[in-house]
Amino acid sequence: MPSSLTELKPSLLWKHFEQILTIPHCSGHEQKLADYIIAQARRLNLFSIKDKTGNVLVRKNASAGHENAEPVILQGHLDMVCEKNSDIVHDFSKDRIVPEIREGWVYAKGTTLGSDNGIGVASGLAAMEDAQLVHGPLEFLFTIDEERGLTGARRIEPGFLKGKKLINLDSEEEGTFTIGCAGGADSEINFAFKRKRAKLKQAYRLKIFGLRGGHSGLDINQGRGNAIKLLARVLWQAKGLFAFELIRVEGGNKRNAIPREAWADFVFDPAKFKSLAAFFQTALDKIRVEYRSVEKDFQYGLAPVDRKSDEPLTSACQDALINFLFTCPHGVLSMHPEMAGLVETSTNLAIVHCAKSRAQIICSSRSSVASALEATRNLLKAVVQLSGGKIKQPEGYPGWAPDLQSALLKTLKDVYVRVFGKETRIVAVHAGLECGIIGERFPGMDMISFGPTIEHPHSPEERVQIASVESYWRFLTAALQSLS
Ligand SMILES: [Zn+2]
Repeated sequence: MPSSLTELKPSLLWKHFEQILTIPHCSGHEQKLADYIIAQARRLNLFSIKDKTGNVLVRKNASAGHENAEPVILQGHLDMVCEKNSDIVHDFSKDRIVPEIREGWVYAKGTTLGSDNGIGVASGLAAMEDAQLVHGPLEFLFTIDEERGLTGARRIEPGFLKGKKLINLDSEEEGTFTIGCAGGADSEINFAFKRKRAKLKQAYRLKIFGLRGGHSGLDINQGRGNAIKLLARVLWQAKGLFAFELIRVEGGNKRNAIPREAWADFVFDPAKFKSLAAFFQTALDKIRVEYRSVEKDFQYGLAPVDRKSDEPLTSACQDALINFLFTCPHGVLSMHPEMAGLVETSTNLAIVHCAKSRAQIICSSRSSVASALEATRNLLKAVVQLSGGKIKQPEGYPGWAPDLQSALLKTLKDVYVRVFGKETRIVAVHAGLECGIIGERFPGMDMISFGPTIEHPHSPEERVQIASVESYWRFLTAALQSLS
């Protein structure tokens, strides 16, 4: 049983990964790692350059006899998500990550490991150094700030890359090729409020909580409840029957998360409270049954709340807000016609926040097809127009439409079968990847993404499977040879 990374194979890759662990590189603080790569390139007499943004490019000439092959780009991101357990003392700006080997996996002690995408970066460094590899001209692209907003990829200058074939090393399941991703765009919606004098004094809060939430792209097809939508649904049902006066609706806190909690404050007659409470209980218990297999911790509460000086909305504003939240689309809108199980288009009602004079609502929409994303944004616009709100739609980021006819895909599928005697799984993801951006900035780029098996990235449970790194490297080197 190996006890240190230096005993693991492939040794060059693990040697560089071990070095990477000693260099702080949280998102936004990648420059020391960028400098390490440039120092390695200089040591190996390879061309290297850092762009204004901080992305690094290294070029390596073809091995002898393969000078005429088409160049291939190997790409990974420099930054890592820095998370730790609360009982661990660790300063990500200067402390090294401490690896731990257990039962065939590498972990970090109480922190994220940064195998996402440290293994990708280390394999680029290993390919730079390894003199035994057979390959055509190689370009190594290391981008910054992938985790927070794909910033590095967004700012690559035209002309930075020569190659037309790109292998992204940031996938997390060995034996799987990723060949597509979703583009995304947000909509920011506003409703102007008028408020009135409350006739009644007592305010109540109806709260929905305990939902699972999750990633607004990757988890959108899991059948989970959206707390804002469920709240809007019962408020809409109640508004024809009970004269409650809405003060505010609040829910969600992240653009890319399905909201787990939402609540509404309203003024209501205490003498009729019992029947309103019974109504909500019946309606919400039906919802609990609908979601029973997915939302095991679904909960709600209805209780008096301190009203302070907040006045309720006029009935027109109250209607507009509830109608909008109830009709606003949320969830999967279409599935990909060729790739089983892949969500093609979806939208997430992410956040609602009510200030004194207006409500702000954020929706985040995704599609691997640009025109379908545009149609989804238009759909939101139309619903907002019907309800009398205003909408702003800032520019989004592009998707990467799966190309099942890709020449690169065909070559690598064949290589995989030759090396391992079995087929790969071909997938696309319903989330943003750097390839979407790179493909837009470099039209005609043929791209594929693969990597070793990494579990629980972005959390202190992150781990990378040692055997999968060996298989991944074996495949990567065979692929480079085939492409030469
Ligand atoms: Zn990553």
